[in-house]
Amino acid sequence: MDVRTSGTLDTLVMPTILLVEDEPPLAETLCYNLEREGYTVLHAADGVQGLELARQERPDLLILDIMLPRLDGFSMCRILRQERDVPIIMLTARQDEVDRIAGLELGADDYVTKPFSFGELLARIRAILRRAERQPSGGSREILDAGIIRVDTSSRRAWRDEKELVLPQKEFDLLTCLMRNRGIALSRDLLLERVWGFDFLGDSRTVDVHIRWLREKIEPDPARPRFIQTVRGIGYRFEAPTSE
Ligand code: CA
Repeated sequence: MDVRTSGTLDTLVMPTILLVEDEPPLAETLCYNLEREGYTVLHAADGVQGLELARQERPDLLILDIMLPRLDGFSMCRILRQERDVPIIMLTARQDEVDRIAGLELGADDYVTKPFSFGELLARIRAILRRAERQPSGGSREILDAGIIRVDTSSRRAWRDEKELVLPQKEFDLLTCLMRNRGIALSRDLLLERVWGFDFLGDSRTVDVHIRWLREKIEPDPARPRFIQTVRGIGYRFEAPTSE
């Protein structure tokens, strides 16, 4: 059985959501609230840019407005459906658009009618992501590549300079979480939650200890880390040095 479907890895994934919405106030509010919930959020203000971002960044979920400049949400949904099996939530403005979705069977997973509360949208996002998590994605591989450091999440293997690293589970999960969020400062609390889970009773020093062990394995000079940067007062950030 494929290792990635075995469960433990899924709990640490910080899903990326692509929001395609052209109304600035709504887009800003949604981005802000989704980020507060721990999601990585990408935003596009028109359909063409949205399609490009969806192809480049391969988000875990899309939230599509229907009325969009350049390419509408229906067309985006239809095009994306032919390319990938990504969960899609449509934002609709009027009830008749909901009927259209049903009629056209474009393959959106859910829809939310404007105006909606953030709580309502969040509940649907969580339900859809939970559902998607349970479905093994037909042997697809995720390779995280940061120059001399490489991780294959499906086989749970990691390499430095082409030499395979022996990483205990938590260190592997921690590295994966950091690399998936390259360039983003992750707080100790957030790392605790993603890697150790909500129920874990330890404190944030647990994170520091594991970071130290991880640095000893992946950093050329652990005293002057290049990959795992300390963000004072917050936690850690993964960077891929460009000199590679
Ligand atoms: Ca719109």
